[in-house]
Amino acid sequence: MAQHKTPLLDQLESGPWPSFVSDIKQEAANRADKAAKGEIDFQIAVDCPEDLLGVLELSFTDGETHWKHGGIVGVFGYGGGVIGRYCDQPQAFPGVAHFHTVRVAQPAGMFYKSDFLGSICDIWELRGSGLTNMHGSTGDIVLLGTTTPQLEEIFYELTHNLNVDLGGSGSNLRTPAACMGESRCQYACYDTQELCYNLTQEYQDELHRPAFPYKFKFKFDGCPNGCVASIARSDFSVIGTWRDEIRVDQKAVAAYVGGEYPSNAGAHAGGNWGKFDIKAEIVDLCPSQCVRYENGKLEINDKECVRCMHCINTMPRALRIGNDRGATILCGAKAPILDGPQMGSLLVPFIKVGADNDFREVKDVIEGIWDWWMEAGKNRERLGETMKRLGMATLIKAAGVEVDARQVQEPRHNPYIFWKAEEVEGGWERDINEYRKRHQR
Ligand code: SF4
Ligand code: SF4
Repeated sequence: MAQHKTPLLDQLESGPWPSFVSDIKQEAANRADKAAKGEIDFQIAVDCPEDLLGVLELSFTDGETHWKHGGIVGVFGYGGGVIGRYCDQPQAFPGVAHFHTVRVAQPAGMFYKSDFLGSICDIWELRGSGLTNMHGSTGDIVLLGTTTPQLEEIFYELTHNLNVDLGGSGSNLRTPAACMGESRCQYACYDTQELCYNLTQEYQDELHRPAFPYKFKFKFDGCPNGCVASIARSDFSVIGTWRDEIRVDQKAVAAYVGGEYPSNAGAHAGGNWGKFDIKAEIVDLCPSQCVRYENGKLEINDKECVRCMHCINTMPRALRIGNDRGATILCGAKAPILDGPQMGSLLVPFIKVGADNDFREVKDVIEGIWDWWMEAGKNRERLGETMKRLGMATLIKAAGVEVDARQVQEPRHNPYIFWKAEEVEGGWERDINEYRKRHQR
């Protein structure tokens, strides 16, 4: 088995952080050891990780990639889930002549049992490179490096033995992702995992049969803390919120002020932050200046609260999310490829999110957007780019949601909503009659 010299890659192991180079070397040694003992009947080249190190070193030396796209690969009936990758130096590095990536849908909230993880590793040791990425930036389990003949075998084992499906890739719905939500988190304003699972089941066709102008991502955050960063990383972002008041427990506030409870759930412990100062750490840091602390009482002007979560995160035993919970929907976030990065723009300020109606309200918004975007979107145009090109008002109409003064691209940047006279109750006729009356014409 060829062992490649990798002086440039070796430098990546020298810092204080874990290195992917060390991981690949470890797997190369593991496979060589098992092959020598005859322990595994590897289905792809034993020296796949070793050749991966070799081709990466060559890329560093040459200053260019040695991966190339060589055509579309996949499994029967699916248009996504496998990303084909080939090496342009197959003679020098036969172990990575094919190095396809398989995306596997992660469970909502990424909860695993260890026997499931063991089975994934067994499949990948036998039929792939043994290298995984937990998780890719979309959220999927990413199985790195296999050959074309293995794809159907891997697909069969994943779907029949482990009861998991391939994730999305290409111009289709990508694997939806959710925070852990109600399973463990007191801040969750709706059941993120249930919504994620329901929509994944509902939109199987959209996940596996590319028919969109470009990729489309759903992400579900249970509250504005945004643990899956849906506002920045998804075309359709659902963020939990409440529309009544933050619940305040004045006794617990006093316990924080008196030092009985550690602020920030103890996250500052060990740091030299000194005594908790409610004015400096809560009142002065509220972005909308709507918190007051006087005579030992904390008060919040909830109408002005922008749900930043700061006060709640800092004093979780004293302040709790409201009881009238639901979610805010934002659209159009994307990474910087064209026109720079973009955060999601608010589309629906508040929507009740519940399984009792099979999440129909949320699905109606989604399907309105898709119908419009599939018509109006250009090839390889993200929803956010179509929105920018044709205007937010077009999206609002397509989604069939009510116009709201909060639907602005950036807060206080564009407060104008343009109405067509015929869309207003009574329409043009009524307006003109009123005008004539006022001016006695
Ligand atoms: Fe909890 Fe909010 Fe994070 Fe979800 S996004 S895990 S609800 S803090
Ligand atoms: Fe202020 Fe944020 Fe607390 Fe609302 S959640 S009261 S905006 S600190």
